[in-house]
Amino acid sequence: MVYAMENVRQTRYWTGEGGDGAVRCGLCPHGCLVPAGGTGRCGVRENTGGMLRSRAWGRPAALAVDPVEKKPLYHFMPGRKAFSVGTLGCNLSCRFCQNDGLSRPSAGDWAALAREGVVQPEAIAAAARREGCAMVAFTYNEPTVWAEWALETAAACRASGIRTVAVTNGYIAGEARREFFGAMDAANVDLKSFREAFYLRQCGAHLAPVLETLEWIRRETRCWLEVTTLLIPGLNDSDGELEQLTAWVAERLGMDTPVHFSAFHGACEMAGAAPTPAATLLRAQRTARAAGLRHVYLGNVRVSGGGDTRCAGCGTLLVERAGFAARTLWKAPGVCPECGMPCAGVWE
Ligand code: SF4
Repeated sequence: MVYAMENVRQTRYWTGEGGDGAVRCGLCPHGCLVPAGGTGRCGVRENTGGMLRSRAWGRPAALAVDPVEKKPLYHFMPGRKAFSVGTLGCNLSCRFCQNDGLSRPSAGDWAALAREGVVQPEAIAAAARREGCAMVAFTYNEPTVWAEWALETAAACRASGIRTVAVTNGYIAGEARREFFGAMDAANVDLKSFREAFYLRQCGAHLAPVLETLEWIRRETRCWLEVTTLLIPGLNDSDGELEQLTAWVAERLGMDTPVHFSAFHGACEMAGAAPTPAATLLRAQRTARAAGLRHVYLGNVRVSGGGDTRCAGCGTLLVERAGFAARTLWKAPGVCPECGMPCAGVWE
């Protein structure tokens, strides 16, 4: 496909390789060698004229105002609105993708996107402010593969007092990882499984880089971190795997890290698969609590109290959630009105 040059922006995180015009992308652990005229596995980063360029810079395919609870982020400014932005493409190929309309675009989808006008970072920040949003969320498709636009937008948001959050698979490497999460105020990172075989067979990726990203965010940044695991019956919901996953989160990320267990619904290559029963999510929640995790939430399913935040000390209800609506019940933000114990999070 041929794009007008103004429709693709030069990216970073790549080097030239050899004399045939191929370039090596270093943004994510795939490390694609992108031949002249080709794209990387994400479909976003394209080699035009020996330069790696982004087909997604300034090209939103989805824009909406969502509650921050929908990301999901439950310990970051509850009840506030997030101006949510997504483009096209993804560096993983999850067979169960819940948003494949954006993550697996057709050539026609890309062509339609390229015909749209470019949206500058400042325009996103201004739109967020106009809509009364406290933050911009990079979401819907994988934002790290369009990191350059996300980073410039994050800078524009910061200049106008708007926070930025990312909903991501965490499959990013090196310098790009450092810059991307260094610029975010909060992130919800998918930990899709605790098995390398699952990442390999179901997602076309590896587990270790995701674990590295999670630890790196916790250790090296001020970015507020929450974790989501989509539970798929028979694939990643065994007792043993849940015990290992939750023990790892408690030990390496800390017991205050909110974990969201989310119910799978048939989609993408697994359109006919059975949905996750509520009993599986409740079992995962018990396992996580036994591992010491203090804040474990259930999503995509109706379970009474599954989205509520309680004091880790005395169990008092702090944030009541119904669907994506949140109601805070404290007097001082993030402080239990009964026992005075602070609850980890960003509450302003
Ligand atoms: S970001 Fe895209 S082009 Fe770059 S290494 Fe990952 S999949 Fe390949």
